[in-house]
Order: sequence, then C-alpha cells, then structure tokens
Amino acid sequence: MNIFDIEQKKLPINGSKMKFPVNRVFCVGRNYAAHVIEMGGDAVRESPFYFIKSTDTLFINGGEVNYPSKTENLHHEIELVVAIHKGGRDIQPENALEHIFGYAVGIDLTRRDLQSEAKKLGRPWDTGKTFGQAAPISAIQPVESIGHPVAGNIQLMVNNSIRQDGDLSEMIWSVPESIAKLSTFFELTAGDILFTGTPSGVGKIVKGDNVKGKIDGIGHIEINII
Ligand code: MN
Repeated sequence: MNIFDIEQKKLPINGSKMKFPVNRVFCVGRNYAAHVIEMGGDAVRESPFYFIKSTDTLFINGGEVNYPSKTENLHHEIELVVAIHKGGRDIQPENALEHIFGYAVGIDLTRRDLQSEAKKLGRPWDTGKTFGQAAPISAIQPVESIGHPVAGNIQLMVNNSIRQDGDLSEMIWSVPESIAKLSTFFELTAGDILFTGTPSGVGKIVKGDNVKGKIDGIGHIEINII
C-alpha cells in the first residue's frame, strides 16, 4: 500500500453519519473471575492490568479473517469495548462515565500459544495479541441512545454452538474503575478505546469456523476464519 493511502481507523456510529476516529486500543486483562480461573489464576481481586493492541488490528464490522501466521492455537475472546471522547488523567471512578462516547462489541483474537510462551519467559505479549485483523469490532452505540449498560448477556458462538456466555455484571473491575485506573498510567485522549476483558469459555478456532459475538443492547459481530 502507498504510504499516502493509509487511513486512520474510524468506527461507524449507529444512527449517525459521523465516524469515531480511533487513537489507541487499550485492553484489560483477566476481568471476569471464571476466565481468570480458566487461565490458571486465582480469584483474588488483583489490581487491573492493561496491554495494548496496535490500532491497525481493528477489523471494522467483521467479515473474513485470514488465519494468522505462527500459531496453532488461535483463541476468541468476546469483549465489551468502551469508546472515549473526552481525555484526562487521574480520572476518578465517579466521573469516568462522562468520558465515554459509546460502547461496541469486539473480539480480542489471541495467538494463545505465543502468549503462553511469552508469559512463561517473562516476555511481552505483543506477538500473541497484535497481528492483522486481531480486533474485529462492531459499530459504536452512542451513550445518548443506550446509556451506560452495567448488565446484559455477552455471548460468543462458534459454528452456532455457544462457547462464551456471561454477563457484563460479572466484571471484576467495572467500566468506571477500569477507566480510572488506566488513566493513572496513560493520559487518555479522545479516540482511545478500551476492550474490557472476556468472560470464561475462551477456546480455539480454526480455518472454516464461523464466529458470532453479541452483547445485549449493544450489537453483534461476525467473522469467518479463512
Ligand atoms: Mn482479552
């Protein structure tokens, strides 16, 4: 691709012709207790931790995902995504909702074998978490339409069988708490988005699989692995 053809990633906004320009893609790790346990952790309420997927990983509205290189264990993680339209640092949890423009449905695709090896060796997670099309994402539902969801079914199906089936109310760290803590590490800016962690049931997907994710009241995302 020609350097001058590269465009900033912009997310569609439900009910609007405007698009949401994305600055950075932050992610919360281990934010649902049952997922912490399935990943070999314990259910102690540890402080939230964060990682970043590069912005080019956003795969807007889903579609065909090319099976990535260097993995034999590609995993799905369905997640609520928060879109920020007002920046700040050291945001207090009680003020955090003011910073949110809207919510979307995302899948944090993960090369689990590379991530596991990185964990074992004390190396960064980047190769496990960041690769082409690693973050399929839906349109944003603006707060002005849906408010701030604190409960609702979050579900992922592979080939029409349910793999992940949780509720937003099961998050260990609420959305305001996750934003507040994140803003102590990074000055947040308009355009930042945050993947808020996945419920239990993560698992392997392979070429030929159809993957559908949805969150009640927010939207859905569908990908086919080719
Ligand atoms: Mn995740």
